[in-house]
Amino acid sequence: MEDLAVPTPAGLCCPAGGFYIDPVRPVDKALITHAHSDHAQPGHGAVLATRETLDLMRLRCGEGCAGTMQAVGYGETVDVNGVTVTFRPAGHVLGSAQICIERNGRRVVASGDYKNVADPTCAPFEPIACDLFITEATFGLPVFRHGDPTGEIAKLLQSVALFPERAHLVGVYALGKAQRVVALLRAAGYTRPIYLHGALAGLTRYYVARGIDLGDLRLARDAAKSELAGAIVLCPPAAVKELWSRRFPDPVTSFASGWMRVRARARQRQIDLPLVISDHADWDGLTATIAATAASEVWVTHGEEDALVHWCQQRGLKARPLRIVGYGDEEEGAEPQDGEVTA
Ligand SMILES: [Zn+2]
Ligand SMILES: [Zn+2]
Repeated sequence: MEDLAVPTPAGLCCPAGGFYIDPVRPVDKALITHAHSDHAQPGHGAVLATRETLDLMRLRCGEGCAGTMQAVGYGETVDVNGVTVTFRPAGHVLGSAQICIERNGRRVVASGDYKNVADPTCAPFEPIACDLFITEATFGLPVFRHGDPTGEIAKLLQSVALFPERAHLVGVYALGKAQRVVALLRAAGYTRPIYLHGALAGLTRYYVARGIDLGDLRLARDAAKSELAGAIVLCPPAAVKELWSRRFPDPVTSFASGWMRVRARARQRQIDLPLVISDHADWDGLTATIAATAASEVWVTHGEEDALVHWCQQRGLKARPLRIVGYGDEEEGAEPQDGEVTA
């Protein structure tokens, strides 16, 4: 298996194919699972990814963010130096993929970030049978059970009904969570305009351009104060408490994240209305997925590695933590810190 996958300080390397998957340092050839910045760093010589991931990388890092870019569709097979490569939906954000690499009858799947939960803004996750499964573990502790996001959206709508004169400021990550929260609100029958912080506008426009219907969206900065009474306003998590939020009439502060399962974290961030909505698999999702791959060996990376390694070993699977430094520095993959950039 060492010729197919080896953990290195630059990230997961496939020596036989001469490429890395989601490298955390610039490399000659990178296969990229999705456009969150801890996975999709600029500066690689050549990048292979889905069309959406490449477009989102250009939007976030500029046209010159890689030497060359090659798009691959879900399910399409590409030969890279004799290694067969296939991208399959990961259900995490638009364009997100698991990367399946095969040679000599051995198959390795690198999950990237994933969730095995319905999301109207991206293609659904597919478990893939493999010999070695390399899984993320952002929420890899049994305490993390995300529950049903529609129940969380119902809580938000109840609060809007209860406080029709107050703006509801919902902290969301710019790529994926913002668009999913809008889609969940629309699915719940909410048809009024939804207001966006400017930092969310470009990525959201891209989702709409790719055919995801998000209804009436407006920029918060263009709205009169009176218009924002009782409105739902989405913004980057840190903006909820910044000067920016002061323009809103008596705001209710909210934050949509898997981290909101931990009450102390919501309190610490002074969030009135924590919403447990995550774009990562929870403990049950991680363990069910590992079982579904029928892999005999599991490598765990990106988050709470040890509990999941232990869970695998108890079931007789070979398992190890990868301890690659650099994942989870952005988006929901890391607990957001105060003062993070909000643009
Ligand atoms: Zn991600
Ligand atoms: Zn990540």
